[in-house]
Amino acid sequence: MRIGAHVSSAGGPHLVFERAWAIGAEAVQLFIGAPQQWKLPTLTDEQVDRFNRVRVASGMPVFFHGVYLMNFGSQDPAILEKSQASLLAYHRYAGRMGIVGTIFHVGSHLGAGFDGAMVERIAGLLSAVLEDDASNPALLILENNAGQGNCIGGRFGELGAIVRAMGSPPRVGICLDTCHAYAMGYDIATPAGLDATLEEFDRELGLKRLVAVHANDTKLPIGTFRDRHENIGDGHLGFDGFRTLICHPAFADVPFLLEVPGVNGGGPDAENVQRLKLLRSEAGLDSPGLPPLDDIRRAAES
Ligand SMILES: [Zn+2]
Ligand SMILES: [Zn+2]
Repeated sequence: MRIGAHVSSAGGPHLVFERAWAIGAEAVQLFIGAPQQWKLPTLTDEQVDRFNRVRVASGMPVFFHGVYLMNFGSQDPAILEKSQASLLAYHRYAGRMGIVGTIFHVGSHLGAGFDGAMVERIAGLLSAVLEDDASNPALLILENNAGQGNCIGGRFGELGAIVRAMGSPPRVGICLDTCHAYAMGYDIATPAGLDATLEEFDRELGLKRLVAVHANDTKLPIGTFRDRHENIGDGHLGFDGFRTLICHPAFADVPFLLEVPGVNGGGPDAENVQRLKLLRSEAGLDSPGLPPLDDIRRAAES
């Protein structure tokens, strides 16, 4: 099992590997544009090549996170068009950059309700992104949310309805955010609660679609429908909760990606990586190890 983190791509996407290495992360999530803007990412061929060289040298699996503005549940055609264009742009770069897939939030139905027509429309928009290029191996990765407001996909059944309406294609994965799941009322902090949660996940989505975990503790108790990430062990999931998660065989090959505030408020940091690694080693699980930093730096220069 790999312990990874969301890392800044400021200054160039190839820099994420050195930054990940510096905090001990073994897998990476990044944005390739400003997450609060519609502006489509524009990377040069040189940037893509350089990223690929360093990615290979690092041995790290990499995930994109899509922009936050996307909303596939909107009734506004302009928003739907922009959402689809943004996801498609990320998906195309994902294919060229050896990215596992783009993790994104489906959005909110804004009060319109999550009915059959809504499911069909979302499925159609997402399917068109996949159909853009059947040879693009990257996944579209839907993330569960905290159930706040009218958000779609807090319950696995909602995500399952969308995936089934798409025809259950193999290039769709799921990212399970631990903070969001707990906010939604899934008691993943206890062995019995986690088993029940994963049974529901398996029934609605199939465990084989689980390709990433957003490993975040939460500032709030279970079932509060609010999305407030906390550092590992300092929140309501706590060290016992993360021990339960790490020990569960369903996560054996699923990277844990931190999106925590950080002990100094600067985002995922060495301390949070270390906390998860400690639980992993207590559980007797293997560490993939990291290549020497010089290998990563040399690949960036070559
Ligand atoms: Zn997340
Ligand atoms: Zn969140």
